[in-house]
Amino acid sequence: MAPSTTSAGASSGAPRTALVSGASFAGLATAYWLHRLGYGVTMIEAAPGLRCGGTPVDIEGETIGILTRMGLMDAVLEKALPPRNFEFKDADNVTLGAVGPGPEEEAQMGPRYEIHRDDLLDILSGAIEGKVELLFGRSIAQLDQNPEAVSATFNDGRRRDFTLVFGCDGNRSNTRKLVFGDGDRYTFFMGGYFYLKVVPETGLLPANKSEVFSVPGRTAMLNGYNDRTDIGFGFRTAGQIEYDYRDKAQQRRLVRDHFDQLGWKVPDMLACMGEDNDFYFDRVTQIRMPTWSQGRVALVGDAGYCPSPLAGLGGSMAIIGAGRLADALERHPDDYGSAFRDYEHELRPFVEQVQERAATEGLQMMFPADEAEFAERDRKLATGDLGF
Ligand SMILES: Cc1cc2nc3c(=O)[nH]c(=O)nc-3n(C[C@H](O)[C@H](O)[C@H](O)COP(=O)(O)OP(=O)(O)OC[C@H]3O[C@@H](n4cnc5c(N)ncnc54)[C@H](O)[C@@H]3O)c2cc1C
Repeated sequence: MAPSTTSAGASSGAPRTALVSGASFAGLATAYWLHRLGYGVTMIEAAPGLRCGGTPVDIEGETIGILTRMGLMDAVLEKALPPRNFEFKDADNVTLGAVGPGPEEEAQMGPRYEIHRDDLLDILSGAIEGKVELLFGRSIAQLDQNPEAVSATFNDGRRRDFTLVFGCDGNRSNTRKLVFGDGDRYTFFMGGYFYLKVVPETGLLPANKSEVFSVPGRTAMLNGYNDRTDIGFGFRTAGQIEYDYRDKAQQRRLVRDHFDQLGWKVPDMLACMGEDNDFYFDRVTQIRMPTWSQGRVALVGDAGYCPSPLAGLGGSMAIIGAGRLADALERHPDDYGSAFRDYEHELRPFVEQVQERAATEGLQMMFPADEAEFAERDRKLATGDLGF
């Protein structure tokens, strides 16, 4: 007989509770929906506060519908950034090709907005304020599942029981490691690293523009806004580099070593890096798992299906994932097993399509590695066959 996946809290009349690990887009959106579905929600975040910084998030397609259902789309529109053009440059700063949102693209793909990562975090966290117990500086040390509940032991030694647990803790997910084992088993290294730092406006490029400069295996990217500039560096490597992902000084050195001696605006960009630790650096990876749930624990967002920064859809995907999960739980209020199966069954084709595209077109377009990839990129720039 298949094990029962009835929601114990519901069948016993006791209040249903949920633990959400990670307070970024996946976690905040999941917490919002669970609260709306009547769960008592506890959210834990390893960092001492919401983790800010990073490139803007695209809001398009299904994400617009979900944010509208959450009552948050007006707030997003208020903070939406002006449309931004992407220009691909050569060493003399000559534009090789450009892509940007235009009426044709909108007619084909529907509206698309961009919002700063921090503004979206503010909007989502505002939506759960006072409704969800939010604990910073906490993570899960141990999870034990039994037929009635999941027992979570936190890093402060406290132990609490929850009806369901959601791992929304990013591509290095602690929940995934605890429940599915070996942190790297589901991690597909895509052959590169990505650095991003937000600095005050630099004057290196006009506002509302992005510029990209590549040499084989290395790409420098600038995003210009009225009040700030994103400094981005990506580089390809044959294999993974040995580095400590907590050692920020080492990461700064890695970036400088890879981009030292490059032309274009790179020397000015390197000067903007400074010596502080307020930046994003990660290997470019996808998370590909055979299943996103086990028992009473399910993964949402990068934790279960990170598409990599090359997809440009990580934030959207996390919000879509949370919305789809909520729909499935609403359809099966007393059977989390069926809900988790529906969630996965319906979302997986979209995830796989996005991941496939990032691993092929995205990688070659943004980080061309050799002459053949440059030729293909230039052909796309010349013909406008860019697909984004
Ligand atoms: C500071 C930051 C900057 C980023 N910048 C970029 C960028 O410039 N470009 C890009 O493409 N993507 C960036 N990303 C990744 C991007 O946000 C995600 O791909 C996407 O938003 C998916 O969201 P997510 O909520 O699934 O995961 P994430 O946004 O990665 O959030 C995971 C959350 O879980 C928390 N967490 C981690 N471990 C634990 C633990 N053990 N216990 C509890 N909480 C934990 C993290 O602190 C984080 O708040 C960034 C992520 C972060 C955290």
